[in-house]
Amino acid sequence: MKNIRFSDVTITGGFWKTRQDINRQTTLRAVYERFRETGRFEALRCGWKEGDPNPPHVFWDSDVAKWMEGAAYCLRTQPDEGIAAILEETIDCILQHQDENGYFNSHFLVMEQDKRFRDRNCHELYCAGHWFEAAVAYYEMTGKERFLRAMCRYADYIERVFRQEHSAGFITPGHPEIELALMRLYRATGEKRYAALAQYFIDQHGQHPAQDRMGQDWIKEPFNQDEVPLRERTTAEGHAVRALYLLCGAADVAEEYGDTALEQTCRRLFENVVGQRMYITGGVGSTYLGEAFTVDYDLPNRTAYAETCASIAMAMFAGRMQRFGADSRYGDIVETVLYNGILSGVSMDGKSFFYENPLAVDPAFNHVNTSTTMEERFPITQRLEVFECSCCPPNILRFVASVGGYAYGMDDDTVYVHQYMDSVLDTDGIRLTQRTVYPQNGTVSVQYQGEKRRLAFRIPGWCRRFTLDRAYTLENGYAYVPVEGDAAVTLELDMPVRLVAANPRVHADAGRVAVMRGPVVYCAEGVDNGADLAAVAVDIQGQFRLLDSEWLLPRLETTAFRPQPTANLYPDAAAVAYEPFPLTLIPYYAFANRGETEMQVWLLRGRPVYSG
Ligand code: ZN
Repeated sequence: MKNIRFSDVTITGGFWKTRQDINRQTTLRAVYERFRETGRFEALRCGWKEGDPNPPHVFWDSDVAKWMEGAAYCLRTQPDEGIAAILEETIDCILQHQDENGYFNSHFLVMEQDKRFRDRNCHELYCAGHWFEAAVAYYEMTGKERFLRAMCRYADYIERVFRQEHSAGFITPGHPEIELALMRLYRATGEKRYAALAQYFIDQHGQHPAQDRMGQDWIKEPFNQDEVPLRERTTAEGHAVRALYLLCGAADVAEEYGDTALEQTCRRLFENVVGQRMYITGGVGSTYLGEAFTVDYDLPNRTAYAETCASIAMAMFAGRMQRFGADSRYGDIVETVLYNGILSGVSMDGKSFFYENPLAVDPAFNHVNTSTTMEERFPITQRLEVFECSCCPPNILRFVASVGGYAYGMDDDTVYVHQYMDSVLDTDGIRLTQRTVYPQNGTVSVQYQGEKRRLAFRIPGWCRRFTLDRAYTLENGYAYVPVEGDAAVTLELDMPVRLVAANPRVHADAGRVAVMRGPVVYCAEGVDNGADLAAVAVDIQGQFRLLDSEWLLPRLETTAFRPQPTANLYPDAAAVAYEPFPLTLIPYYAFANRGETEMQVWLLRGRPVYSG
């Protein structure tokens, strides 16, 4: 199955139209301004001198490139002369300072001329990959070729240095990204050498006793995906974004070459992540130490790392897995991260961002003695407008702007509706109009115009009951409906509020439940519910009321119980009285938009005995 290019899909209304509008009207400019103020655009002029402020950092290029990619997508939705001019000017800068041999990196061109491709941990290939992605996006959105051609020269140079001359100081990238980017470059240009180079990098991981020719042996670690060849890997290890970007590249390569062994590797690791190592929000990376996966079922809530980029990478990986055959489990994971772990990374107004996305916030206990934070630390409790390491904000920008690309898929006789978004698909003589306010409710109306085909609707794993107004067959979580000419189909997905438990191996969630409605995880905040949310028990027999909210989706109200305050550190358990109160829950993605406050996704399951 092929995924459909996002440019064939127009988001026309509903939840994602609102989010895309905020993304284009606010996030696009906000991220640009922060990057401009911090010198990231200026760095591309390659004029930095000793003593100047803002020395170009080794991965600044990737920040700008992701912004450019997102900007290009936004331009397709709505022309914007100012943004178009910034893009042109930035491309001018890059082309002007690009080395004759094709190399471009604003740090190494200026600060460490003699150290190009010497240090594996310096993100050069990662930055190159993001330049390639930006160039492909710009080409696909505008039809202009000059940036793409320039980046092809860079790719040719990388091929020479890494694959032909073996003259670089290392063999594989410390931070994967170039693999999937080379596959995009290949698909945009048809140049098979780029696919072959992606395959080469994927296969070289973990193959060399000393990955780093400069003698930095520590770099051969799970952190960099190099302790074992990818094909032999049985668990997802190391830095979560690195692991998942590598798997995205591997899935692309496996599909391109019909490499079933590599496909099996991707399937095996997907199962490990979603079966043992993923938060209910779709977030991954259980610890900030190495920004990494830890061990199966280790999913602490307060210290969850769950980087926004890792959630985005999860969607990218699951989206690619869909191409190996229709199975709703992949679309389910895309949906989980879409509505939870990705969107929590940006504030409702689109201006500020989370790097880490914890599932519990307890501000009163965050300011511990710093000597204890050598090993453990707590995530920040409020979003920031800019980070030293600012990978997440532009990643959100490009992701939300291109989210339509996840909605549909196609093969010879079937159009797949993977995600429910109010949208129009226009491709290959097909016009499909989807009308829905999903996930406000589960009603989806589709109007199909085109040749005789099947429409395949993903029935989400969370959905226990659905109706279709036409005959269908069900297979691997998709409902198949034959259509021809001009056809209308309506799908109704029952979307009751559900209480979800965690596997008993997840000790952090023992005795607790999470509240979900459809794909959306809910949370309780202190600003609505008072303090000590960790001690609050939700009534598992309680009813839920759906109430209007300012968060795009309804807030929920139900009954919960809380222990009465006590001055005693260890009171007699029998003496603790519980009192009922109305508990307000809001979508997890909307937490931390009203000042610093407690937050809890996993609530104690009650009903405890209470007096009163
Ligand atoms: Zn990030």
